[in-house]
Amino acid sequence: MESTRILLEAHEIPTHWYNIAADLPAPPAPPLLPDGSIARPEQLGVIFPPAIIEQEMSTERWIEIPHKVREIFRLWRPAPLVRAVRLEEALGTPAKIFFKYEGVSPAGSHKPNSAVPQAYYNHKAGIRRLTTETGAGQWGSSLALAGQMFGLEVRIYMVKVSYEQKPYRRMMMQTWGAEVFSSPSSLTECGRRILAETPDTPGSLGIAISEAVEEAAGRADTNYSLGSVLNHVVLHQSIIGLEAKKQLDKLGLYPDMVIAPCGGGSSFSGIAFPFLGDKAAGDKRAANLRAIAVEPSSCPSLTKGRYTYDFGDASGFTPLMKMYTLGHDFVPAGIHAGGLRYHGTSQLVSQLYEAGLIEAVAVPQLSTFDAGVQFARLEGIIPAPESCHAIRVAIDEALKCKQSGEEKVILFNLTGHGHFDMSSFERYFSGKLEDYEYPAEEVEKSLAKLPKFG
Ligand SMILES: *Cc1c(COP(=O)(O)O)cnc(C)c1O
Repeated sequence: MESTRILLEAHEIPTHWYNIAADLPAPPAPPLLPDGSIARPEQLGVIFPPAIIEQEMSTERWIEIPHKVREIFRLWRPAPLVRAVRLEEALGTPAKIFFKYEGVSPAGSHKPNSAVPQAYYNHKAGIRRLTTETGAGQWGSSLALAGQMFGLEVRIYMVKVSYEQKPYRRMMMQTWGAEVFSSPSSLTECGRRILAETPDTPGSLGIAISEAVEEAAGRADTNYSLGSVLNHVVLHQSIIGLEAKKQLDKLGLYPDMVIAPCGGGSSFSGIAFPFLGDKAAGDKRAANLRAIAVEPSSCPSLTKGRYTYDFGDASGFTPLMKMYTLGHDFVPAGIHAGGLRYHGTSQLVSQLYEAGLIEAVAVPQLSTFDAGVQFARLEGIIPAPESCHAIRVAIDEALKCKQSGEEKVILFNLTGHGHFDMSSFERYFSGKLEDYEYPAEEVEKSLAKLPKFG
């Protein structure tokens, strides 16, 4: 019998990241300041080290992965590519379904792929402390782990609703030496203001980002680190797709479809962009490639948002970025895929979506858990609620292949395991999990407050 796990040797870990900024159909829209002027790299230096700023602006196609970073990656990379044979059989589909399993990292998701290089570049620049926000706790855990690898102190603002729902994520971060606070907190000016205005707020990623950025901007020894959205994070995550490509190569296969959940967009970019790079280079195998970003119906930035300049955080500390957004102060319903509750989407993902080079689909929460449980019972792995979004669409596409009889190759990003999300599964099993409608009115209100400049 053929093996269903396709593994690589440690020496096959990619040596360079792929930067899609080299292959865009048009130059990316520059970040702007609130007065409409272009944000200068030095201005980002308040919160980011030089190497990260360089990557953020770079249009080099290939950027070398530092040796030290690759050494740490060896703790869990290369990540396995798995053919979901039992799922294929249960669905009765002629399609081949593969998933790239990023849940093998110590933190349980793809996020350490960027946390490790970010900690490395900050350490190299002489920074002692990092601040960040975390929603579901995946990013916070990843940065706590990465900070520990380079002797950095890490302070984490954790969205209040997750802080309360996920004590074990918090303890995981503390085990890796980080300090964790519920956001909004009384440690920052912006936290105190929001607490005074709306004491019962469940918090949001946008608010937690404001708190972390405020603290980093106010201290010379402290920088800020973001787990998704920005170009350098998208760059770092390209290791997922580059490895998956090598693994499929070993089987002589190429995907017809690449599917991933989409919050800020780094996990989707990570698996999809190296294949889109083939397409840009004229590789015939990629000519009809479909890249599908899957978002929750309750936080549908791509499918229902507006493509315009908006802040990356709730309080307007960050430069304005041109992206699909629901409005920077939009607070999504308390859905269980905490990692997908961001108001905007990566500028790179947004630009490609606007240009019609990628697709997006929004799916309701309950159907993602249906898919996740079906997957767990067949393939064994209990997926994170975010990953369930990709599984839903992979199953739907495999069922379409059953109708049409097409033997397509479907690749999806199994971005993480759900071991810290069991209370969400419990709610699903007890019938307490709800589908939240698309909050049209809230989004309208929030979009009405988009920054005006120029
Ligand atoms: C954070 C997270 C996501 C969303 O990733 P983005 O890069 O922000 O789109 C998906 N899955 C898991 C398991 C996550 O932790």
